[in-house]
Amino acid sequence: MTDAETLFERIIAGEIPSEKVYETETTFAFRDIHPQARVHVLVVPKKRHRNVAELAAADPQLLADMLTTAAKVAELEGIAESGYRVVFNTDSDAGQTVFHVHAHVLGGEQLGFFGR
Ligand code: IMP
Repeated sequence: MTDAETLFERIIAGEIPSEKVYETETTFAFRDIHPQARVHVLVVPKKRHRNVAELAAADPQLLADMLTTAAKVAELEGIAESGYRVVFNTDSDAGQTVFHVHAHVLGGEQLGFFGR
């Protein structure tokens, strides 16, 4: 396992410092170190799955927990009403760099169109 693969497990364990936003029994939410919007929070499940497809197949309840946490983060960050985006980058063309599934919660400003 590379450092990139273990990074979020070490953040969840508190071995690498992070700015925690919210935590549940099964999920952990913390600020992205390179924010792409005024609000940019990562939501990760405490149990590692490689990407959202593998998580959905293996443990749909845990995927639901992630989305519930994402909604709670939006509420806590004050962007639930103005709107926000939840993104799962999945493998290389999408630019996934950490192979521990994570949802990006982005908002706090008008977000641009995305694609290429
Ligand atoms: P991906 O490109 O979808 O895999 O997203 C990985 C995200 O993790 C990127 O947005 C990085 O900025 C973020 N990231 C990498 N290392 C850290 C860290 O130590 N703390 C918080 N976020 C990180």
